[in-house]
Amino acid sequence: MTAFCQARKARGISIGFVPTMGALHQGHLSLVQQASNTCDAVVVSIFVNPTQFNDTSDLEKYPRTFDADRSMLEDAGVTALFYPSVDEIYPKREPTNYDLDGLDQLMEGPSRPGHFNGVVQVVTRLFDIVEPEMAFFGEKDFQQLAIIRHMSTKLGYRVKIFGCPTIRERSGLAMSSRNVRLSESGKRSASALSRSLEQIKQRLSEGANVVDAIKPATDQLKQENGVELEYLELVDVVTLHKATNETPSIQACVAAYVEGVRLIDNMQVK
Ligand code: AMP
Repeated sequence: MTAFCQARKARGISIGFVPTMGALHQGHLSLVQQASNTCDAVVVSIFVNPTQFNDTSDLEKYPRTFDADRSMLEDAGVTALFYPSVDEIYPKREPTNYDLDGLDQLMEGPSRPGHFNGVVQVVTRLFDIVEPEMAFFGEKDFQQLAIIRHMSTKLGYRVKIFGCPTIRERSGLAMSSRNVRLSESGKRSASALSRSLEQIKQRLSEGANVVDAIKPATDQLKQENGVELEYLELVDVVTLHKATNETPSIQACVAAYVEGVRLIDNMQVK
């Protein structure tokens, strides 16, 4: 992979990189599209990264659809698909610990210890192998994107990080590889997440303060059949710290279980 990319870079070909865990959907393909609009060559990786799963049963249940993924990427015209084994990515199996400057302690942090450390470990490893000029990540994983931006700068990577908008089902449900584990009624329940984010946006635009915007949305989600709310928070888009009425730009972020599947979503609401 390194030789493949270096040979192209030596010829002045820019490489756009899209790291994924497979089970591809339109959300992933939108990243591929953005990469091919911006770069000469597109490399997509599929690697279900064991170090970012704090729950082994979640890792085992993670959908794996390699043949379908490969043909989707062929149809999308990507230059190369990188599908490494765990041994290739972690030959020494040594854990690496990063100081994520507290960004990993917020929102997703408490319920997923070690998750973002694993994400940074795999992304830096992949950046070292591919050495892309640009890398494309979804805003769907908002905290992950913030952490990758932060760590890429802190560790001195010269990769330009692109954040791409969240692609949704018609119901508003954010596309996710995990959605295949939901029944039709589960998907209907799950669409309440994006509705609650829209509701907050609407209330803030009508002049509500942050407490009055978030309270009814939280209450409604708690009452929603089949939805087990983990958190709904309003945060500063840059620092991820809890938003106040003075915060200039606010992201609403939500995590909930539906039919035992952990779902996240977010939206800029101010
Ligand atoms: P994953 O395979 O879940 O690790 O996701 C790979 C990349 O696709 C990450 O940068 C995600 O944020 C992004 N992604 C996942 N779902 C969506 C979506 N619905 N819209 C846009 N990007 C997404």
